[in-house]
Amino acid sequence: YAGRPAGSVISERLHKLLVNDYKAMPIVVSESASAYDAIVTLFLEDVGTLFVVNQKGYLAGVLSRKDLLRASLGNKSLEDVPVGIIMTRMPNIVTCQPEDTLYSAAKKLIDFQIDSLPVVRPAEGEDSRNYELVGRVTKTTIAKAFVELGSESKV
Ligand code: ADP
Repeated sequence: YAGRPAGSVISERLHKLLVNDYKAMPIVVSESASAYDAIVTLFLEDVGTLFVVNQKGYLAGVLSRKDLLRASLGNKSLEDVPVGIIMTRMPNIVTCQPEDTLYSAAKKLIDFQIDSLPVVRPAEGEDSRNYELVGRVTKTTIAKAFVELGSESKV
């Protein structure tokens, strides 16, 4: 790196970080779960966003805190509200893949104004238009990587 401005060294390092090395575990509920179940899961797992999977285990939707707050404004009992009717549904889900750069995932969080991205892999064979869930990238993931980049000891 001799003779190069420090900024480009940092940028080079930043653009080498991969989603696969930073992703966290996806926290999921099934499409038939109730909004009540989803809220309980949110607290038990200490996350802000849940991913919803269908019977085959493929990604069906995303459920945010505000999706659940909105549902709880209605008069209906939350036990009787299936998450399938309040989630943001496929194919309108913004995703990333394990081999993507963490930077590109962070850019999606900003561009789409969302807190969380499911990390997915297309299913094998005839199910290839479906996604298997392999992780999550959230604003926390990005903040952790940012702190790591800024700490001298960890290069
Ligand atoms: P909150 O709604 O709690 O502020 P977000 O900003 O992440 O959390 O979510 C805003 C909206 O975008 C919600 O309706 C949510 O379902 C949806 N959403 C969240 N993540 C994604 C994603 N990865 N792809 C598509 N839509 C998403």
